[in-house]
Amino acid sequence: MEFKPANNIQDLQYFGEFGGVNPSISDSSTYTFLSAKTMFDTFEGNADGCYLYSRHSSPSNLYLGEALAAMEGTETATVTASGMGAITPVLMQLCEAGEHIVSSRTIYGGTYAFLKNFAPRLGINTSFVDITKLNVVEAAITPKTKVLYCESVSNPLLEVADIKGLAELAKKHNLKLVVDNTFSPLSISPAKLGADIVIHSLTKFINGSSDTVGGVVCGTQEFIDQLRNVNDGAAMLLGSTMDSLRSASVLKNLRTLHIRMQQHSHNASYLASKFEKDGLKTVYPGLVSHPSHILFKSMMNDKYGFGGMLTIDVGSLDKANALMELMQERNLGYLAVSLGFYKTLFSAPGSSTSSEIPEEEQAEMGLSDGLIRFSIGLDADIERTYKMMKACMIELNILEAELA
Ligand SMILES: *Cc1c(COP(=O)(O)O)cnc(C)c1O
Repeated sequence: MEFKPANNIQDLQYFGEFGGVNPSISDSSTYTFLSAKTMFDTFEGNADGCYLYSRHSSPSNLYLGEALAAMEGTETATVTASGMGAITPVLMQLCEAGEHIVSSRTIYGGTYAFLKNFAPRLGINTSFVDITKLNVVEAAITPKTKVLYCESVSNPLLEVADIKGLAELAKKHNLKLVVDNTFSPLSISPAKLGADIVIHSLTKFINGSSDTVGGVVCGTQEFIDQLRNVNDGAAMLLGSTMDSLRSASVLKNLRTLHIRMQQHSHNASYLASKFEKDGLKTVYPGLVSHPSHILFKSMMNDKYGFGGMLTIDVGSLDKANALMELMQERNLGYLAVSLGFYKTLFSAPGSSTSSEIPEEEQAEMGLSDGLIRFSIGLDADIERTYKMMKACMIELNILEAELA
């Protein structure tokens, strides 16, 4: 049967303590026990439904985690204080000193910096590869490799990972496939395509209001229990726990994700096809010209489109900066990193979110100076937005004025 992630979220029902339509917020860091024996069992991980201490878990965090697990179709999930607070414990849980990771080279700048600069201090080394070439990925696997890491839709180049193909490789070589699905919630369900662990930065589309950072790890009960183990669980011991007040607010925002994703995708798709027709170098997975358009189509769930992210290349960093400043002046969006907001956000990744990646490597992976990454907002009238953006581009000689 077709996987319907939004239905799965909707079908979960939680009430508050006094019949509230939202679950009560657990405003406690610690929990009492009626018997000392139960406290001991909880420490040992054998007392289901009991709470010990909120760095381990809290009712509010479990509600949000279960909703996100339902969305991704995994057994369970654990929420974290940020996306990086989800990614780093997962990788440290899966790899020991001397072990190896094969990662896509086009990933979030912070993840890249962790793998490149920090993980080697723990004896964990990473090979960065072009994730769209399965033979290149397989060639990088060594006897020490434990993890295949990628983003379903990559940041910032919007490359699309062949999750089924990667899952087969992972199975063949006994690796865990970890997929960061931050750019494509609802539209792609990596676990359904064979990923072992699915991560999100909740900071982006899922929370959608740019008022907090947050993250989630979705996976098997066994793996999530390992992450939260009081003796050797990386999530428990490194301490990147989400606060209960915040998880309650993220859960409320999750309720409208399906509507927001449809509008983000609708608006981004409209602008991408207009920009491309105008002759701008445009990258959007919904365009037939995108090298992985068909692959994305083959993986996507119905309804949610190709997402809210697109890039254009305006030729130089100076032009990119001038355009972003002018668009901001005209209130078409904000010159800001991050994504998934109601307002359009734009930035030049080469000099901002991907600046951790050395310049030669940026050039090699096709990350050019004039690239602008857009997270398209929820604009009610995208045709008007397009006309106003185009006027900015004409004013800055990025596009030629059309003869009337
Ligand atoms: C933002 C982002 C992250 C990091 O998330 P934080 O919540 O900022 O820690 C990881 N992966 C992707 C794809 C992101 O866009």
